[in-house]
Amino acid sequence: MANTLYDALFAPLAGRASPFLILPDGAEVSGDAFHRMIARFAHVLRAQGVVPGDRIAVQVAKTPEALALYGAAVAAGAIFLPLNTGYTPDEVAYFLGNATPRLFVCDGTRAKALAPIAAASGARLETLNADGSGSLTEQAANQPDALTPAERGPDDLAAFLYTSGTTGRSKGAMLSHANLLSNAEVLVDYWRFTDADVLLHALPIFHTHGLFVACNVSLLAGGAMIFLPGFDLDQVIRLLPRATSMMGVPTFYTRLLDDPRFTRDLTRHMRLFTSGSAPMLTETHLAFEARTGQRILERYGMTETNMNTSNPYDGERRPGTVGFPLPGVEVKITDPDTGGALPQGQAGMIEVRGPNVFQGYWQMPEKTAEELRENGFFITGDIGQIDADGYVSIVGRQKDLIISGGYNVYPKEVELILDEQPGVLESAVIGVPHPDFGEAVFAVLTPAGEGPDEGAIRAALGASLAKFKQPKGYAVLPELPRNTMGKVQKALLRTQFAKTFA
Ligand code: ATP
Ligand code: MG
Repeated sequence: MANTLYDALFAPLAGRASPFLILPDGAEVSGDAFHRMIARFAHVLRAQGVVPGDRIAVQVAKTPEALALYGAAVAAGAIFLPLNTGYTPDEVAYFLGNATPRLFVCDGTRAKALAPIAAASGARLETLNADGSGSLTEQAANQPDALTPAERGPDDLAAFLYTSGTTGRSKGAMLSHANLLSNAEVLVDYWRFTDADVLLHALPIFHTHGLFVACNVSLLAGGAMIFLPGFDLDQVIRLLPRATSMMGVPTFYTRLLDDPRFTRDLTRHMRLFTSGSAPMLTETHLAFEARTGQRILERYGMTETNMNTSNPYDGERRPGTVGFPLPGVEVKITDPDTGGALPQGQAGMIEVRGPNVFQGYWQMPEKTAEELRENGFFITGDIGQIDADGYVSIVGRQKDLIISGGYNVYPKEVELILDEQPGVLESAVIGVPHPDFGEAVFAVLTPAGEGPDEGAIRAALGASLAKFKQPKGYAVLPELPRNTMGKVQKALLRTQFAKTFA
């Protein structure tokens, strides 16, 4: 029976003797062993009553078994729904209530706390622990090693992936088999992945970057992954010599650059470093090149669309940009108020259309109608522009737009100037309530060296920015609040500094 995603990604593992996963202790899981693990888990899912179209929610540590569970869900025709391991029971209750999965798999240490929540949503509860053990693994032990996958076509749903919740409550993006496969096909080609690749995988697998970009690309190319439970600097430096490629968020690269062991010699053999999920500072890009002689390839994507644009493999990887629309993906810049196309070079809403664009938000028809146009374009919520050479850059998020005294201020424009000031490592510019202006521009800085001199910064910005864009207040924090994907949590900063002028 045909199963679009299974046939392309997982079926080819059968009989493969070479390693598919390389673990931090040097142990290897061959392609064939992994395929058998998938089959056994898929039999357990069926025995649990999972039928095609059912949701399977998982909140578990990153292990080979957890990844096999993704393959098993696809094989069983179910919809895979991974959850951030940092979510509290209250947050899990929201997701389970929203998605009403047939089965919820969590870590054994949390089973007691989460059992009532699973029961309330009507889900069965099973466990999978950080060492790979658990009730699911126990049941899998006696299952057959082979299976016939459930019939699934390109338009059937393969996953509900919840957005990161950076701008509001997380939304469940419904992704079809064709959404995921089309993007993996394009990326394998664009980034030249082959069966000779060994990807150093230190990202979480509950997010699109680590699960779909990294794993689907490796699976489709027939490559292997050095599969780390998380980003551990020592492990990454120790295992880099075995890798050919690495995908990261910007904080991975700043942390590597902070370590003197990260040298040109250590990286000379590497074919590709990519970055995404959050903006990479030009300074990081240049420091990386100075250290290693290599240029990080930055790309842009999101939960709802997988990857949309990428810097080129050959050709100039331009710092501060996210490159060109990927083959098959259309990108246009529109007026956020009218939706009309804007002239080339102007900043506006990034809209995308292509086989990668999701099917809508689960049980949020109004939100879906607001963001997904009838003609297929998805209104990303990111503000960007396209330069004369076709490079897309992201100026900020619409929800971060500050309206001060009736004037629009894009935080990124102010942040880029702040980041260049002596004593400033990085910055986040937010809008906070103000009695006269509605919102006031407010700058949060992190220190470099001696730290920032507010008077000097005010003078420098006075000379380079219109008055309404200049911050009316400053604060210095040891570091910016970020989530696991390296995204700055501006909502937290807005709350923290809400009373500054009120
Ligand atoms: P939510 O939609 O719930 O507010 P989120 O948009 O942060 O959360 P994700 O889907 O994980 O959730 O992240 C996608 C967003 O990440 C993009 O819309 C964009 O703002 C940002 N992003 C991804 N890659 C890049 C990049 N290379 N440079 C700048 N921003 C990026
Ligand atoms: Mg989003």
